[in-house]
Amino acid sequence: MPEGDAVHRTAAKLRRALDGHVLTRSDFRVPRHATADLSGRRVLENLSRGKHLLTRVEGDLTVHTHLRMEGSWQIFPARAWLPRGDQVRLVLATAEVQAVGIRLGMVDLLRTADEDRVVGHLGPDLLGPDWDAEEAVARLLRAPERTIGEALLDQRNLAGIGTIYRAETLFLRGVWPWRPVGEVNDLVGLVSLAQRLLEANKDRAGAVTTGDRRQGRERWVYGRAGRPCRRCGGRISRGEMGANPQERLILWCGHCQPR
Ligand SMILES: [Zn+2]
Repeated sequence: MPEGDAVHRTAAKLRRALDGHVLTRSDFRVPRHATADLSGRRVLENLSRGKHLLTRVEGDLTVHTHLRMEGSWQIFPARAWLPRGDQVRLVLATAEVQAVGIRLGMVDLLRTADEDRVVGHLGPDLLGPDWDAEEAVARLLRAPERTIGEALLDQRNLAGIGTIYRAETLFLRGVWPWRPVGEVNDLVGLVSLAQRLLEANKDRAGAVTTGDRRQGRERWVYGRAGRPCRRCGGRISRGEMGANPQERLILWCGHCQPR
């Protein structure tokens, strides 16, 4: 699942392709907005809020999309054939390009003035201009008994972390994923580290947390179940966190992240 850094890159891609350009065609392939037509309207800006994408269009309209598990936005030349089948959920075309939303987990059209309805619940965006570590910690501490692993994925606390950055941040801080939030030392340091990891990866794909971009050396624990810990040599564990059906993958080192 794309995390905040990947969504941030997607917004930048849409910005380069669409910002300032007039739409010549729109094609919403979702029942709710099947008749919507944005042609003739200029795209004002594209931005990300956590893992949400907002495409603001002239006339107080915002296209709200979310990549969810396997969605993406791809840019094609104006006259290119698009992928066939039902994977295309949305097309926003200008005279030069077609921005194509593929397998998007969410496509919505709303008034720009109503954006808070879809992103207003989000905590501070780790890659946003409003990032505020103290505010993120205050939100985490509203439920001090909750496990830190679950709390970090809750986008109402802070927006942008997925399973990769959760696992890597907790490893680097030596925190057992099931430790209650209220018992974690230096939460400001923890969320600030997560922010730096996303920041370091926002301009290129790969989610590198070790500082080593070579294949197979990019991360400490994520994707390394059963393999030796890079710090202690112990075996990396793999499990799931969260209540059914919301379980999400977690990886950790039982020695470096003790109970
Ligand atoms: Zn270890």
